[in-house]
Amino acid sequence: MEIHRFESRYLRFHTVCLVSPAKQAVLIDPGVLPEDADRLRQFCEDHRLNLTAVVFTHTHGDHFACWPPFETVPTYGSARILDKPAARRENDVKYVYSIWRKFRVEAPWAARFPRIDYPLADNTELQLPVGNALFVETPGHSTDHSAVVFPMEQVLFSGDMLIQIPQPFILDGFRNYFQSLQTLEALVKRFSIQRVIPAHGPELKSPHMIRRQIEREKQYIRDVVQLLGELHRKSLSADAIQAHLLKAFAVNNTILHSHRVNVNTLLREWESAGPFSLEI
Ligand SMILES: [Zn+2]
Repeated sequence: MEIHRFESRYLRFHTVCLVSPAKQAVLIDPGVLPEDADRLRQFCEDHRLNLTAVVFTHTHGDHFACWPPFETVPTYGSARILDKPAARRENDVKYVYSIWRKFRVEAPWAARFPRIDYPLADNTELQLPVGNALFVETPGHSTDHSAVVFPMEQVLFSGDMLIQIPQPFILDGFRNYFQSLQTLEALVKRFSIQRVIPAHGPELKSPHMIRRQIEREKQYIRDVVQLLGELHRKSLSADAIQAHLLKAFAVNNTILHSHRVNVNTLLREWESAGPFSLEI
């Protein structure tokens, strides 16, 4: 199986095109900007590929923006995608338009939330024309997030987890994200994974890099949750707690967008589920 990555101008997003020796192809998360779709189509044409599947790691707008040009191809994604409420689907579609506006591009198709032909349960073994894959739920970044493993190739596609940015991006929940990191850790061990390919930025090219990135993300989560516990015990106001959490994890004195989002997620989670700690 060949692995081709196509980088978008949007946040170093990468679409993956997997190709079998028999020229069967599978796309993972098909592009953000219209030019990304053109490039993918051209690649398939130039190499006379038979596109047989589109796989979604999750349904944030940047991951499905360029789905409509490939909509005749069977689609695969977590069964949890089906549970996504209409209002959140609409938001995801709005996000696509906001990206296109920002880049001053227009697509010849309307952005649409993707249809999922094969909703997959956790730990589903998939026989794809490019090879056998294992589809594993990894919620935390989003509720419908999954990782895709190709055991024979010892490669794992991690979606929006294990991206090499200063802080992970946690929109669904801290406990889920932490547990998903443990799930990834177990998969890496079980299948002797040598390469982790995230949807944004560079891949992790060795078991050492993979372990280090997993540990870095776990440590960030432990630290944020621990600090929240300490602040909570001091009976500070909600605003003061939030301000502390933001400042304590600023990178070079800058509070990153991801951390701001993470703090909101954690405070919401803490309020609805009550205080929690994490297994070390
Ligand atoms: Zn995402």
